[in-house]
Amino acid sequence: MTAHDTLERAGLSRGQFAGGTLAVRSPIDGSEIARVNETSPGDMARVIAAAKSAFRIWRDVPAPRRGELVRLFGEELRAAKAALGAVVTLEAGKIVSEGLGEVQEMIDICDFAVGLSRQLYGLTIASERPGHRMVETWQPLGPCAVISAFNFPVAVWAWNAALALVCGDPVIWKPSEKTPSSALAAMAVLERALKRFGPDAPQGLAQIVIGGAAIGEALVASKDIAIVSATGSTRMGAVVGPRVAERFGRALLELGGNNAMIVAPSADLDMAVRAILFSAVGTAGQRCTSLRRLIVHRSIRADLTRRLVKAYSSLAIGDPRDPKTLVGPLIDPAARERMGAALARAEAEGGRVHGGGAVVTGVPDGGAYVKPAIVEMPGQGGVVREETFAPILYTLGYDTLEEAIGLQNDVPQGLSSCIFTLDLREAETFLSAAGSDCGIANVNIGPSGAEIGGAFGGEKETGGGRESGSDAWKNYMRRQTSTVNYSASLPLAQGVRFDV
Ligand code: NAD
Repeated sequence: MTAHDTLERAGLSRGQFAGGTLAVRSPIDGSEIARVNETSPGDMARVIAAAKSAFRIWRDVPAPRRGELVRLFGEELRAAKAALGAVVTLEAGKIVSEGLGEVQEMIDICDFAVGLSRQLYGLTIASERPGHRMVETWQPLGPCAVISAFNFPVAVWAWNAALALVCGDPVIWKPSEKTPSSALAAMAVLERALKRFGPDAPQGLAQIVIGGAAIGEALVASKDIAIVSATGSTRMGAVVGPRVAERFGRALLELGGNNAMIVAPSADLDMAVRAILFSAVGTAGQRCTSLRRLIVHRSIRADLTRRLVKAYSSLAIGDPRDPKTLVGPLIDPAARERMGAALARAEAEGGRVHGGGAVVTGVPDGGAYVKPAIVEMPGQGGVVREETFAPILYTLGYDTLEEAIGLQNDVPQGLSSCIFTLDLREAETFLSAAGSDCGIANVNIGPSGAEIGGAFGGEKETGGGRESGSDAWKNYMRRQTSTVNYSASLPLAQGVRFDV
């Protein structure tokens, strides 16, 4: 099937992927697969105004009715799963099951959001004054901008959009400029749901804008955008966060990670090896939750390293459309160069490198295919403290659990973490206040591949945001506290007297 067939099967018209100004390349072989129209910066005021008008209508639509739109979206996604997953594989280079898995995440969050549309609960609070009642109500917040990264080209938008829509907020999406076709295909699915939903959905309820940082900056700067949910590098978050704060907007930041696994002496090593493989080399190391640091008890370090080096040597690397492939390409040649530079630095810092380098045979020409690398490091300095978005796994040794937790926490990022142990005391210590400082802390599971039911996000330079499940929906609403006096007197709180 040609690239154009794949795009057409996902519901895109020729006008959407041909004749535009933004050239899109497939990481599979570097070929140009589309030319997409970019949004002109001059159009952004109109787009934002449309979202603002839509908000005035959508906020009054009852939440369970808003949920019906998301239910239809979930239905359309089920029908489009294979076609949309194939575009993700083509454009982001994910293997087939991960492309499909990404669409499954979108379906899952729709199911979650539909239930949520009848559960936007507030509290009833005991008032200190007689004849008074205090309640908390969650109200729609306003237009929500979603800025997303290339590595989850469609799911991250859905995590935000499904919740924002049931919460009463219109959505403007600025996808990564590296993956606009996946975004347009996902938007086409939502448009089918909007059509079935009918006239209760106002114009401008769900919009997409295509382009780079300048288009994103227009959303970040606008006072009419109530919440900016931005997923990407810490470098991007360091620009976006302060700009949104300057205008007292709300920012939800989902930024880089530097995720670790502690492997204790009691660990089930067979299970640990499987978890390490998926989380360190899955998605070619291009997940925010990819495993980057392995902190291994010194008594088992040599054994585990030997097993991993062996397992790495038999990984199927190549065309992500081949069902046997486990490791597809990096997003572009620049990512491969960054991986090479990080390995050279690691070596200069005393690391012993296993694997790494370009794959030269059995892969499509023109793609940035790499051999995943394991690097035994003498300590956690320099390059280990940075996120390199590629399949590099640094290993470090430890003697005491305290030392291991110290290493785990001593990096600028705080997204995901885990421990492999069969010792209850170790597991609970890792999950305690004195344990992992990350937003995600797992036991006997790798750091990547979260379910949508829990809140997702991390601390420190990961940005502090939480999206997806649990009570992350509260980000998209404003909390209103109301005190109602149904008595015939007017007592003041705290016993204050103000009689005239
Ligand atoms: P990136 O930061 O280069 O780009 C992300 C998005 O931000 C793109 O849409 C880009 O156009 C936009 N952008 C860049 N500068 C901007 C600005 N000044 N104003 C507004 N928008 C701007 O990231 P990437 O290379 O696409 O993705 C990889 C990074 O994303 C990694 O660091 C990864 O860890 C992170 N990530 C984090 C999560 C998470 O949930 N924590 C999820 C996926 C990816």
